[in-house]
Amino acid sequence: MSGAADLLVVGAGAKAAAVAAKVDAINRLGLGPISVTIVEGVEPAASWKGLNGMTSGDEPLAVTPIKDVGFPYESGKAFGDLGPAIDREVMSLSWQQYLVGRGGWARWVNAETPSIRHRDYGAYLAWVLSRATTGVRIVSGRVQQVGFTPGGEGWTVEVEGREGLERYEGGALLLTGPGVHRHLSHDPEAAPRMFHCDSKRGDFLTRVPAEGSPEIAIVGGGESALSCLAFLRRHRPSARLTVYTPTLPMSRGESFLENRVFADPDCVGWSALELSQRRLFVRQCDRGVFDPGGLLNIAYDDHCRFLTGRVVHVASVSGGDGVAVDYASPEGPSVDAYEFLVNCSGFDLLEQLRGLFAPGVRAEIERQSGPLWDRPADVEVPMGRALEVVGLSPRLHIPGLAALAQGPGFANLGCLGLTANRVVAPLLVGDEAPAAMVVTRGDELGL
Ligand SMILES: Cc1cc2nc3c(=O)[nH]c(=O)nc-3n(C[C@H](O)[C@H](O)[C@H](O)COP(=O)(O)OP(=O)(O)OC[C@H]3O[C@@H](n4cnc5c(N)ncnc54)[C@H](O)[C@@H]3O)c2cc1C
Repeated sequence: MSGAADLLVVGAGAKAAAVAAKVDAINRLGLGPISVTIVEGVEPAASWKGLNGMTSGDEPLAVTPIKDVGFPYESGKAFGDLGPAIDREVMSLSWQQYLVGRGGWARWVNAETPSIRHRDYGAYLAWVLSRATTGVRIVSGRVQQVGFTPGGEGWTVEVEGREGLERYEGGALLLTGPGVHRHLSHDPEAAPRMFHCDSKRGDFLTRVPAEGSPEIAIVGGGESALSCLAFLRRHRPSARLTVYTPTLPMSRGESFLENRVFADPDCVGWSALELSQRRLFVRQCDRGVFDPGGLLNIAYDDHCRFLTGRVVHVASVSGGDGVAVDYASPEGPSVDAYEFLVNCSGFDLLEQLRGLFAPGVRAEIERQSGPLWDRPADVEVPMGRALEVVGLSPRLHIPGLAALAQGPGFANLGCLGLTANRVVAPLLVGDEAPAAMVVTRGDELGL
């Protein structure tokens, strides 16, 4: 058994990079020690380098990389007088520092800060993870099971590493990643003609022929549908692509009014807003909307069309050489035939977690915090300010589930620095309201 860390993290992606940068800064300032163990199944930033499905790495990142691992650099709100010093330290791992170090900053700024590719973003995250090392350990291996430590006061993860099964312990646990694709009803015979938002991009190239003009349906009205569309336009330029959106297709609201809510949900009193208002905001600004920049590339493209209709079932036709898409449109039920279909109807984070937690562990989590896996779809997941499952001890942080309860940026890249503050704050200043205590500690340290 390896020594217990204060925080265990599953996945070395964007959120882990932000947490590592914060913990590294806190430790270098002498405010710790805080120890973090990050377990990564593929390699750091694998999701963005095109190694995990979901992207080939060449598709454009929808968010600007200026919203880097420290953004919005307002740590004073979490750590009082210590905040500015922590932000200064984290700035040494900013996107700007990364590009300056590579001699690419002026070129990027002079080009008017264009969007970058997922793999460029992945390279930046890997750079952060390679430098944020004070108190941070990265372990290579896939987490197979998550459970409680024997006394129930911490977490343990079983990792399939190079040397076989290893076990790591932590006082709190942070689960990252977007989840697995949401199930879309289909005949078993249709499966070989279907792809999903998390299918490996190489599978598309193996199965969709380069010659001819295959008709391909893409189901979904959000970022992953647009990402698949961009990939297929690039690699199968003669394919004809039809995107089914469950409601009228919409692009994402991105003015300063929306952006400030991602960066600082407290500025609108997010958690106190009516649930219906929070749902509406997430629907219009994050889930189920297209990035306007991505749409620009296909605005005058006669290989792409958009249909409003909720796909209800995918049947196998033509002796397995195609699929029939049953969908409910405003005009009533309809059926269209395609050679392939891509299911981009969404990610299911809880379904992925179901596989990581044994039934007994799931039962204990639900005993302490109420229904999580089998709750009705319209019931909000109870997530607290530290992006933790409310009522559960030891702490289990799942930022990907906290958008509705705590703020829309916690499920994506909208406020990585704030996400890290929320997760790390209980380790630095405890569970109590921190302001007074932090100011005292800041004075003592002469910051
Ligand atoms: C194609 C695509 C494009 C996106 N573009 C944007 C965008 O432009 N802007 C935005 O705000 N959001 C975007 N998102 C959403 C983004 O993925 C989420 O915000 C996500 O939560 C990113 O941070 P993360 O650290 O949680 O996950 P990731 O960065 O995906 O990292 C998760 C890591 O966990 C590892 N892992 C998974 N399971 C295990 C296991 N069992 N054991 C060990 N390691 C494991 C993976 O290998 C991976 O490295 C995009 C998502 C997708 C799929």
